[in-house]
Parts: sequence; C-alpha cells; structure tokens
Amino acid sequence: MGLYKLRAAAKINLYLEILGHRSDGFHELIMVMQSLDLADRVTVKSHVGSGIYLHCDHPQVPKDHTNLAYRAAALMAQTFPQAAAHHGGVDITIDKKIPIGAGLAGGSADAAATLVGIDLLWQLGLTQQELQDLGAQLGSDIPFCISGGTALATGRGEQLDTLHGLTGLYAVLGKYNSLSVSTPWAYQTYRAQFGETYLDLATMGADRRAAIHSGPMMGAIAHQDSAKIGQLLHNDLEKVVLPAHPAVTELKTAMSQAGGLGTLMSGSGPTVFTLTQTQSEAEAIAQQVKAHLPDPDLGLWVTQFAPIGVQLMPA
Ligand code: ATP
Repeated sequence: MGLYKLRAAAKINLYLEILGHRSDGFHELIMVMQSLDLADRVTVKSHVGSGIYLHCDHPQVPKDHTNLAYRAAALMAQTFPQAAAHHGGVDITIDKKIPIGAGLAGGSADAAATLVGIDLLWQLGLTQQELQDLGAQLGSDIPFCISGGTALATGRGEQLDTLHGLTGLYAVLGKYNSLSVSTPWAYQTYRAQFGETYLDLATMGADRRAAIHSGPMMGAIAHQDSAKIGQLLHNDLEKVVLPAHPAVTELKTAMSQAGGLGTLMSGSGPTVFTLTQTQSEAEAIAQQVKAHLPDPDLGLWVTQFAPIGVQLMPA
C-alpha cells in the first residue's frame, strides 16, 4: 500500500482586478498569486476495498463529498477507473493549518495536493499541465495551488503565467477566527454594485490584459522591487467586503499603521496581510496589531513567501 505526504501551500493575491462578465457566468480576472509557507499537510494512501475516506480533526472542515479534496479524489477515480479498480480505495487525511473561509485557498490547496498524491499513488505519470486541467474542472484556484510560486492568473484564474518567483519576503496575516466570507457572495455583490463598470471583454479585454502585462506591477516583480510591490497591492473585492465587515476595515487600518511595505485583503477575504522584508519586522507588526486590537478572536500568523504550491514530503 502506497502512502504520500504532501504540503499544500496557502496563497495570497498581491493583485486582483475584475475585468468583466464571461459567457460561462464566471468573472474574467487578472490576478497575481503568491504561495506561502503556511501549508496544510495532506496524506494520501491506498486502502483495501473501494471508496474515498476523508479524515480531518478540524470541526469546520466537511468530511463528506463536499470537501474539495474528496471531490478531487472522486474526479481521479472517475477519470481513471482502471487505476482506481487496480489500486483500491483512497484515504485522505488533512492536517489543517490554513485558516478556513479566509481567502487563502485552503480547500483548493488540499484538492491540489490530493490530485498530485493520487497521481503518484496510482503511478499515472500525469504532467503538471494535465493535473492542472483536471484541477480546473473543480475550482479556478486549484491549477495555481498545484504549481504555486509567483504567477499571473487570467481567465477565471486558471490560466497561469509563471513569474519571476518572489523570494525573501514575509507576510503577516490577520483574520478573525469566527468570520469567514463566502467567495460566491463577494463576486455576486461586486457584480450587483459594479456590474455597469465592467469592460466589454470582446473589444477591450485583450488591451487591458496587455496593459497589466507591461504595467508597473509586472515590472516591480521582474525587478524584485518589494517596496514598489507593496505600493501596488490592489484587490477590487475590498470594495464590497470591507464595507460589509467594519472589523476587517479596522484590522486593515491597524495592520497598515503598524508598518511594512503594504497591506491588502487576500482574495474574497476576510484575511488581511502586510508584507515585510524581514521576519523580525513581521513579528513586530503582529505584536503591535495584537496590542492595538486585543481580541482573542483575532488570529495572526507570520509566514514567508514560498516558491512552490504542492510539495512532496518524506513519508
Ligand atoms: P478561496 O480563497 O479559494 O475562496 P477560502 O480560503 O476562502 O478559499 P476555504 O478555506 O477553501 O475558503 O473554505 C471555504 C469553504 O469550503 C469552507 O467553509 C468549507 O465548508 C468548504 N471546504 C471544502 N473543502 C474544504 C477543505 N479541504 N478545507 C477547508 N474548507 C473546505
């Protein structure tokens, strides 16, 4: 019976712009994604018999077919029925470290690790692109969570251009444990409030993508100019999530006043992050924010940028 242990990295968005409506009902996006050292541990192993069993001791993580990691295993079994029949059932164990419903792609990271783990378990020899195409069937963030590092994501977020990997940067993450934001809610609310500002993608989408490609954020990443990256952080979804959650606005203000290169909400939130050049600076910011907002519900993490999404660990 094989067994694989994988690290499944969280991500933050250094840039998130909503361009417009797509004909498939999703939004057309331009994002800069960055993997973090903060990661779940996902163990995938075969068991005699059949079926998918998911174990996780975190009370908020679903253990049934709604878990994205379970859905990833089900997709593999459906796509490769002969391998599934040959190797038997799959046990997935998730050691949850990434906060849930946080805008950090925790579920997508677990699904990414499950796809990679089952590919190894069943000796399928799939390419990274083949794994990413499977992942895209389940969620737009999964392809990035497989490869990770620093990437420009377009389309629904599943089309990736790998960028010069940002290294040596730290992030302080802040999130109220009891608060989570639904990603569909954030996008639907954005559409309701800002839908009339959307670009006509057929005539203007390519120009906007080209402008971002040759724009200041891409230049700052290419030159590893962290001060500039900090100034250029941007997330359109802040326009709907921050007004709906005054506590997140207050957290963002407190984090921003504590120092660092720049502060932003990640994805659909509610996690807010501040970038720093050193770990000691990140720790000082976390302490200052804790002193300013002494709420036991507020979780603060110090983590580093990571060069990879899913990583195989020694068994
Ligand atoms: P994203 O940034 O991709 O929008 P997120 O970080 O906001 O994701 P998740 O932590 O992935 O959100 O969880 C969102 C919801 O998905 C949870 O409330 C949970 O019910 C469900 N879920 C399904 N699978 C998982 C998983 N493996 N880990 C955590 N939550 C999961």
